[in-house]
Amino acid sequence: MDCVMPTRNARNGCLFTSQGKVLIKQSRYRDDPRPLDPRCPCYPCRTFSRAYLRHLFIAGEILFSTLATLHNLTHYLDIMRRLRDAILLGTFPEFLRDIRSRPQ
Ligand SMILES: [Zn+2]
Repeated sequence: MDCVMPTRNARNGCLFTSQGKVLIKQSRYRDDPRPLDPRCPCYPCRTFSRAYLRHLFIAGEILFSTLATLHNLTHYLDIMRRLRDAILLGTFPEFLRDIRSRPQ
């Protein structure tokens, strides 16, 4: 993991989700009413659709960068929390297998 990856990628429209990367500029998200990541507890995921986030990105709104950064940081903090828990519980090998089996 690179320390700037969650924030730099967010600003460039690359969002990390529990179901893999979302490149928000892709036209398939133009009318997508779903939250960015239904499993994510962050404010943007609880409040805005993929279509609205894409609109903000395409329009060059600075709000997109803020919301996308908030989401990506929430996603990475959740991974790190689960990683620490797995180490403490002695389930790190299972954690690794699970996270490697997910789409990138
Ligand atoms: Zn989120």
